Amino acid sequence: MMGRIWTGDEVTEDTTLTCDVCVVGSGAGGGVLGLELAKRGLDVVMLEEGGYHTRRDFDLDEAKAYSTFYQEGGNRATDDLAISIFQGRTVGGGTTINWCACFRTPPEILERWRDVHGVKGLDTAALTPHWDWLEERLSIRDWPIERANRNNRILWDGLGALGYSRGTVKRNVRACAALGTCGVGCPTDAKQSTLVTLIPEAVEQGMRLYANASVRQLSTQGIRVTAVHADVLDPATSRPTGKKLTVNAKVTAVCGGAINSPGLLLRSKLTGRGNVGKRLFLHPVVISQARFRERVEAYSGAPLTVYSRQFIDRGPGKLGWLLEVPPLMPLQSAVALSGFGAEHQEHMASLPHANALLSICLDGVHPGDEGGTVALRDASEYTRFKVRYPLRDFHWEGFREALKVSARIQFAAGAEQVMSPHSRPVVMRGEKDIALLDRAPYSPLECSVVSAHQMGGCAMGGSPETSVVDSTLRYWDLDNLFVVDGSVFPTALGVNPMETILGVARWGSQHVAAAVGSTA
Ligand SMILES: Cc1cc2nc3c(=O)[nH]c(=O)nc-3n(C[C@H](O)[C@H](O)[C@H](O)COP(=O)(O)OP(=O)(O)OC[C@H]3O[C@@H](n4cnc5c(N)ncnc54)[C@H](O)[C@@H]3O)c2cc1C
Ligand code: SF4
Repeated sequence: MMGRIWTGDEVTEDTTLTCDVCVVGSGAGGGVLGLELAKRGLDVVMLEEGGYHTRRDFDLDEAKAYSTFYQEGGNRATDDLAISIFQGRTVGGGTTINWCACFRTPPEILERWRDVHGVKGLDTAALTPHWDWLEERLSIRDWPIERANRNNRILWDGLGALGYSRGTVKRNVRACAALGTCGVGCPTDAKQSTLVTLIPEAVEQGMRLYANASVRQLSTQGIRVTAVHADVLDPATSRPTGKKLTVNAKVTAVCGGAINSPGLLLRSKLTGRGNVGKRLFLHPVVISQARFRERVEAYSGAPLTVYSRQFIDRGPGKLGWLLEVPPLMPLQSAVALSGFGAEHQEHMASLPHANALLSICLDGVHPGDEGGTVALRDASEYTRFKVRYPLRDFHWEGFREALKVSARIQFAAGAEQVMSPHSRPVVMRGEKDIALLDRAPYSPLECSVVSAHQMGGCAMGGSPETSVVDSTLRYWDLDNLFVVDGSVFPTALGVNPMETILGVARWGSQHVAAAVGSTA
């Protein structure tokens, strides 16, 4: 039986559906899970609060893209506004608007999950067949250094000049034209997001997907989820139309991503013995911006193709980081760049000559680093949660050292000028100025921090006293509720998370299927 995709305007009356599994969210976790269950012949209904946008809508209009395809219109942030949070909200979730970098999980992270957090059965050997399958299916291939754009080449050259380790990144693309616009959606369908790969296949296998369906609550009775309640949203405004979708499923899988999954559980009064919304990790990022004499054109070419894990492990208690580059799209850069009036204009005029380095910090692996929290701001609010993420001394020490290393790399690659992400940027014109970074202020709002990798909030672990789901991804206190997305990670990873989420979801699909009684 062929399934179908509905958008909010097509749901013209209150509707109740029954099925085997209700999957909430269509991103990395939900996309894989939906296909794996549909392939087993199970009747799957997927609800996605974002719209159904396809390549026709990916017209490179940045203003439209952030406000339409991102959580909170691209304005999600921690409660104190110190960390900007970028996260997808569209069919395909983050996989539709991300930058295509693919990494398998570092083995030491999975070992930590086993040894420190009590996770069972989730190791490199268990995940390898799933990664092998996904890499084939999503065309995850190395992007050789010869194809790197100038922005990535700067990182490569700077790392080489200083003798630091460096590598090229695998990307989930097929016939990629290297336009560089991954972050606003791929207009050629080259990006092998779940939107163009696993979701269409799941629909072919019979899955029913409702876009513009925001799940507000799960009803429970005893140890079971009895119903999933969604508001239908108007695709044009994202406002509720007043129509309700109710799904009565044998099993429910929450795949809303870190922040939204714990938020939905909290709205449903499922607190996981106080653990829901705890252990939120953000891979906090500081960005060092440089100007080169030659044109870099960091908005063009495959966006993220070189990395270094040279500084990922700086020893006990010290924040380590992964080095990569971001694409520098004009609107995004205009918002991120400091200065007003003539100064800002000058920065924008030199955008073609700009390069930026990301230091993506590995959180959750040091004693006492519990990360942040998600709480409800106001039950009537639509997507805005109270996200707290205390930045402590060890974060600021790490950010400062990361900015020094980035500046060194940028100068080694030939930068004329390097600028720190402070509200009053430290402007460095050569190596000798790097020491100025020691005197800059390191505190919230004075030094800008961003996140594109949210993890945790419904941590997996060995005990219901310290975690939300068990080692089969099942919510400890309910028989038929699973969480299958990045929110189950007990720590961050130190690499971009998509391939880990895809792999964990495919691995976990067997447990979800078994809960419906499928042995296929
Ligand atoms: C700009 C950007 C660049 C990135 N680049 C990379 C990269 O290069 N490589 C990489 O590995 N990672 C990258 N990431 C991160 C990666 O995309 C995410 O980690 C990943 O998509 C998260 O998967 P998930 O399944 O946990 O959640 P998501 O993919 O976020 O999917 C969750 C979905 O659930 C929906 N949802 C949430 N709540 C509800 C609800 N109540 N009802 C219905 N639907 C709901 C959301 O709208 C969303 O579509 C990037 C992210 C961003 C924002
Ligand atoms: S760089 Fe490739 S994958 Fe990204 S938007 Fe352009 S064509 Fe699509």
